[in-house]
Amino acid sequence: MRVLITGITGFAGSHLADYILANHPDVEVCGIIRWRSRRENILHIEEKIALFEADLKDVISLKKSLVEIKPDLIFHLAAQSFVPTSWKCPAETFTINAVGQINLFEAILSLELNPKIHVAGSSEEYGLVQSKELPMRETNPLRPLSPYAVSKVAQDLLAWQYFKSYGLRTVRTRGFNHTGPRRGEVFICSNFAKQIAEIEKGKRDSVIHVGNLEARRDFSDVRDIVRGYWLCLEKGEEGEVYNIGSGKTYTMQAVLDILLSMSKVNVKVQIDSRRIRPSDVPVLLADSSKFRKLTGWKPEIPLRESLQDLLDYWRERI
Ligand code: NDP
Repeated sequence: MRVLITGITGFAGSHLADYILANHPDVEVCGIIRWRSRRENILHIEEKIALFEADLKDVISLKKSLVEIKPDLIFHLAAQSFVPTSWKCPAETFTINAVGQINLFEAILSLELNPKIHVAGSSEEYGLVQSKELPMRETNPLRPLSPYAVSKVAQDLLAWQYFKSYGLRTVRTRGFNHTGPRRGEVFICSNFAKQIAEIEKGKRDSVIHVGNLEARRDFSDVRDIVRGYWLCLEKGEEGEVYNIGSGKTYTMQAVLDILLSMSKVNVKVQIDSRRIRPSDVPVLLADSSKFRKLTGWKPEIPLRESLQDLLDYWRERI
């Protein structure tokens, strides 16, 4: 069996490649990569995977790659994935995420391929959630609060529409926050961990800069999430959508406190107004019972362990 991972150089994509190589040795893992993609997340597996140059914005490149790969399964993870950048570059975010997915789907259709396709949606799609709607189920209204979230809603609905219109075998997930080693340094947990590692090495003053610490998020370890993505294509029903999350929330203050309790030095905390978003989602909490019932999935790695691994990841790199 041959699998294509878009976004293989990224955080979740590289962990998914690790998971497949470790647990399904009969599967050939392919990925698309751009000419300037950072390869640090896949350096350790480059010999074991096949890489093809393609960009979601360029349908020709997608067709050329797909014709060679002819995948049985596609995990579509590539995206402009950072909410704050979506405020600054909303059109680029929408182009990569929504139009890029149209390009991928149209390339698949025009080549008459028939892979089962996972589309990585996000809990951010739910956006503004009222307290009576918690925990969030798949039937919750989608009230996205950022250009990123709108682009993920578009991906989600396009995946459903291409299933209905053309029989494209899509299965959607709405993943809640995940963290762990290799998380991009701009993302909040990773950013806190990197700042602590820099302070420990004497590379910055002992002040950590933070944004909104009140936001509550449902965190899972990335290694649990990618196991879920695999199960999604193994057992997920085509045309369906599934929440994947731990079902537990932590405030960003609690995450910061856990990381600070692991630090080897005293650190002062300073709020930085530039880190506050124009509109933020106050709480994200998953009801993933639909997915758990179907697949037996449940998170196995506690948040403390994810954060310890993330901090150690930065300690090795600073
Ligand atoms: P990352 O930002 O770490 O990785 C993004 C990947 O997308 C990179 O491999 C990047 O490649 C690729 N990419 C970006 N633009 C393009 C393009 N134009 N053409 C081809 N590839 C491109 O994201 P994550 O791994 O964290 O997220 C994976 C998916 O999961 C995303 O769709 C995200 O929206 C979704 N998600 C993530 C959550 C999380 O908490 N991490 C929560 C819910 C959903 P390059 O190296 O070339 O830049």
